[in-house]
Amino acid sequence: MDFKLSEEHEMIRQSVRNFAEGVLAPGVVDRDEKEYFDRNTFDQMGQLGLTGIPFAENYSGAGMDYVAYAIAVEELGRVDPSAADTLSTHVSLGSWPILAYGSEEQKQKFLVPMAQGIKQGGFGLTESNAGSDALAMSCKADPDGDSYVLNGTKIFITNAGSADIYVVFARTGPKELRSKAFSAFIVEKGTPGFTFGKFEKKMGLRGTQNCDLVFEDCRIPKENLLGKEGEGFKIAMQTLDGGRIGIAAQSVGIAQGAYEAALAYAKQRVQFGKPIASLQAIQFKLADMAIEIQASRLLTYEAAWRKSQHLDYATAAAIAKVKASETANKVANQAVQIHGGYGYTREFPVERMMRDAKITELYEGTSEIQRVVISNSILR
Ligand SMILES: Cc1cc2nc3c(=O)[nH]c(=O)nc-3n(C[C@H](O)[C@H](O)[C@H](O)COP(=O)(O)OP(=O)(O)OC[C@H]3O[C@@H](n4cnc5c(N)ncnc54)[C@H](O)[C@@H]3O)c2cc1C
Repeated sequence: MDFKLSEEHEMIRQSVRNFAEGVLAPGVVDRDEKEYFDRNTFDQMGQLGLTGIPFAENYSGAGMDYVAYAIAVEELGRVDPSAADTLSTHVSLGSWPILAYGSEEQKQKFLVPMAQGIKQGGFGLTESNAGSDALAMSCKADPDGDSYVLNGTKIFITNAGSADIYVVFARTGPKELRSKAFSAFIVEKGTPGFTFGKFEKKMGLRGTQNCDLVFEDCRIPKENLLGKEGEGFKIAMQTLDGGRIGIAAQSVGIAQGAYEAALAYAKQRVQFGKPIASLQAIQFKLADMAIEIQASRLLTYEAAWRKSQHLDYATAAAIAKVKASETANKVANQAVQIHGGYGYTREFPVERMMRDAKITELYEGTSEIQRVVISNSILR
């Protein structure tokens, strides 16, 4: 690894931290308790230029690198993991595949307003019988004249209902074609035959919204095919490789937020006549948290740097995602432990952080699937 953070990186960290603490923090508890997504928070991220951080300026992006993007997601995650998820889904999953595989017309029509934060993006891959095993997808798109007719249901989709533009994957060929039997489509909200199903009630990330995308004889114009017919599975897998950098960054942020809360609490909580921070048992917990967070952060920045340098980043992203997501869960758990019984109540933010952390080990490939990716790369 050969990178160091620049002044520009430190500036983006400070500006996102100010936004997270000043604009997002006041509503975090309300959004979690009442379980709602506030589109206004996304719009404000757009105004700040966060929705197009890693995209070139000719597509209305900020022209920064993926390390800057990781820092922004991390800083959102430190205060509001839901906002980190909203941004990471929009940039890594909704926008990036259009940047990487879109025609110039598609980029101008879809990517530009997405980078500006005027339109929000989503990503529809998962189905009820196709989670880790994405090849088991049954959603299909049949060619008919100058359209494809899409039928099927996608589940758990982040930003669904609010997002305006979705990258959706469906079968376009026979089973024998295996991974080449799928294609990717750009589907706009409001297309006839495209509706939203039930909203999930979740353990954490309650400031995001997730629901089904339902397609019933939904006609997608052929010009909305993303990449070539048969390239869908490749596009999905490459998109998730990059998405994992966003989840790793979100995880580092969650861990950092929980660690800071535990540190502050340990200094002020007095038991046996002195702050619990003076007890070695607590000090060592804080030291272990700091070690794990720094290791996770460096792995995340390394994966982001590799992506910016156009080096192979798939394994680095999987390693960063496993390490950072497991760190977020361990650190949030220990932060509750340091708070004692108070940590189990909603009076303190660590209770929410522990709930918010769990999803990072599950989505965009579970920890088990990351280990499949990593071991395949080792043994290849
Ligand atoms: C809040 C949330 C947001 C999401 N957002 C999106 C989104 O925006 N777009 C989208 O397309 N999807 C989204 N998902 C779906 C998510 O990516 C899947 O839930 C995830 O990939 C796991 O699939 P599954 O839930 O079907 O679990 P399964 O695949 O059924 O896995 C169940 C268990 O079996 C293990 N397992 C499965 N296969 C293997 C294997 N080969 N080796 C070892 N262990 C294995 C898994 O690790 C897991 O522990 C979201 C999910 C949630 C909960």
